[in-house]
Amino acid sequence: MDKRHPSSFQQLEKLGEGTYATVFKGRNGQTGAFVALKEIHLDSEEGTPSTAIREISLMKELKHENIVSLYDVIHTENKLMLVFEYMDKDLKKYMDSYHNPNGGPRGALDAPTIKSFMWQLMKGVAFCHDNRVLHRDLKPQNLLINNQGQLKLADFGLARAFGIPVNTFSNEVVTLWYRAPDVLLGSRTYNTSIDIWSAGCIMAEMFTGRPLFPGTTNEDQLLKIFRLMGTPSERSWPGISQFPEYKTTWPVYATQELRNLLPSVDAAGLGLLGQMLQMRPEMRCSAQQALQHPWFAEFQQREAARAGQQAAFR
Ligand code: AMP
Repeated sequence: MDKRHPSSFQQLEKLGEGTYATVFKGRNGQTGAFVALKEIHLDSEEGTPSTAIREISLMKELKHENIVSLYDVIHTENKLMLVFEYMDKDLKKYMDSYHNPNGGPRGALDAPTIKSFMWQLMKGVAFCHDNRVLHRDLKPQNLLINNQGQLKLADFGLARAFGIPVNTFSNEVVTLWYRAPDVLLGSRTYNTSIDIWSAGCIMAEMFTGRPLFPGTTNEDQLLKIFRLMGTPSERSWPGISQFPEYKTTWPVYATQELRNLLPSVDAAGLGLLGQMLQMRPEMRCSAQQALQHPWFAEFQQREAARAGQQAAFR
């Protein structure tokens, strides 16, 4: 582990606060390039848990064009500073400031931008899942966008290194809006499918400009999901009564059509979204399957053409 002092980076303005850290803009003293400096708040009693250090070291190896690069890890006595590639905004800020040239609700993005962001999101997620890394906390705040329209995932692996706390260090409640129903039900055997649920919620939000399931508590989050997806039962979800948070007192909601809620999404887009937003984790598509979906045909063709060109040059 690098023990260099953080002073080789000039610390500039604060960019934001995340679940585990305060993020500052920084400048590399030697190259002048901008970076994002993520200062992890450590429990002063315990210091950095060695498992967290190990996890973070693994993140340095996770290199992909849709994952924010981790350049360096600087570990001093009471601080852990992660040096990341600098990105211009997160998706939440991008949506908040976006004005759709074709009109539509405030915060909603235009269809080509949504498709490009979803393609890049699924590319990044597929790469992580292929490397046996889950995100566990995908949300618009940790999808970062640069001025070239590239989308990259941030915070991959941090949940595994530190666990997902209930409150952030600044005492904000960690959002439940993107959390999969199996996790809300208390499942401890969740897998890659939890990131697919979150990605589905993010896709819907990009179309409407509003979070799909803005729950306030674990119970309220589940009920908001049931109101759209229908209240699950042993018949629709065998084994559901075994989950710790299962209740026999849930109101019984009928399943609604996604297309009524999302009238601006085309049939292929709704098809993909339906495969991502499956209540039962084993029914959700994988990131690789999502990338094969006909909704992404133009991106698949572009990628195939690029692969063909590369093969011709070899
Ligand atoms: P996070 O801890 O990743 O949720 O970061 C909190 C906030 O800091 C994000 O919502 C971003 O606005 C900002 N941020 C995080 N990482 C970067 C980065 N690499 N470049 C620019 N801004 C960032």
